[in-house]
Amino acid sequence: MDGAQPQAADTFAETKSEASQEGSGLAQLRRAGHISDAERNSLAPVAAQFGVAVTPQMLRQIDPQNPTDPVAAQFVPSLNELKISDEELSDPIGDHQHSPVKGIIHRYPDRVLLTPVYVCPVYCRFCFRREDVGGQDALSANELEAALNYIRSNTEVWEVILSGGDPLILSPRRLNNILQSLRDIPHVKVIRIHSRVPVVSPERISDELTAVLRAANPLYVVIHTNHAQEFSSAALNACAKLADAGVPLLSQTVLLKGINDTPEKLGALMRLLVENRIKPYYLHHADRAKGTGHFRTSIEEGQALMRQMRGDYSGLCQPQYVLDIPGGAGKSPVGPQYIKREGEHWEVTDFKEDTHSYAEEHTTVK
Ligand code: SF4
Repeated sequence: MDGAQPQAADTFAETKSEASQEGSGLAQLRRAGHISDAERNSLAPVAAQFGVAVTPQMLRQIDPQNPTDPVAAQFVPSLNELKISDEELSDPIGDHQHSPVKGIIHRYPDRVLLTPVYVCPVYCRFCFRREDVGGQDALSANELEAALNYIRSNTEVWEVILSGGDPLILSPRRLNNILQSLRDIPHVKVIRIHSRVPVVSPERISDELTAVLRAANPLYVVIHTNHAQEFSSAALNACAKLADAGVPLLSQTVLLKGINDTPEKLGALMRLLVENRIKPYYLHHADRAKGTGHFRTSIEEGQALMRQMRGDYSGLCQPQYVLDIPGGAGKSPVGPQYIKREGEHWEVTDFKEDTHSYAEEHTTVK
């Protein structure tokens, strides 16, 4: 495509400051024909506040004839982003209050988030860290060492989750240095990487990067994807390459109004994932990030969707529907519920919404 995209392994996507200075993310969308000149001008205030970047691969996945294209809706900015409600927050899931050291978020006892990089190959219009990503590129060497020292000194940390930003935008060499430093910490048993790269920039899943991920085994890759239309044959090949290398693949999806909020759309994505050896893991209720209200469903709508999914699709295709509690209290599964106590019995609801009584046995131990 053009110079607005990250080209080399050590370069990064456009930053918010670049966007505000040059509007190059918008220029890229204009050149690709996804916005008009007038829209480019009217969207400049959006780009000044929130980074804009789309990869060539994602541009190719957009159907220009479809005014409600589910890929375009995720990456092409909208004036709706300037509508910010009182409930929307700069830090919707309370990362900052759980950050003892720059680059570390320690919310739960046995796991920490390590954010070595603050840029992504794409900027999702609903991003929950949209005010943190797209500014500074990455942790400095000293900051990274301080973050690693925090993990070294907290022996209860069993799992390290690399997030950001998108960690797979790092060059294989830099990523390998980080992963091997983590592997050298005896109490860190598991590494997890959350990334959009296998789908939005599949060309980055090189033999070298795959070998780096494989060498850090046990390492899980959680692929962020929200609609089946995001998957090109190159993306499917990238995922197969990781799976063939023995890297376990999971997925996380954000529930997005108009994009994946029907059983048919969500089910098609989940089936595609399972068919390609990617186990659906989380369905996130969309966080209250600033300017994202047009993407949010209600929790009741999310629960009804999950109830329908349970009936219509294989158990392998069921992600867990979760809410990150605003303010930083962590993630909670938010239903739907299938069982409630009725006196001495439980009342259980099946996938057709019929209810059944279930009585537990009371065994006597002699
Ligand atoms: S890839 Fe993740 S961190 Fe990056 S913009 Fe999208 S949601 Fe935000």
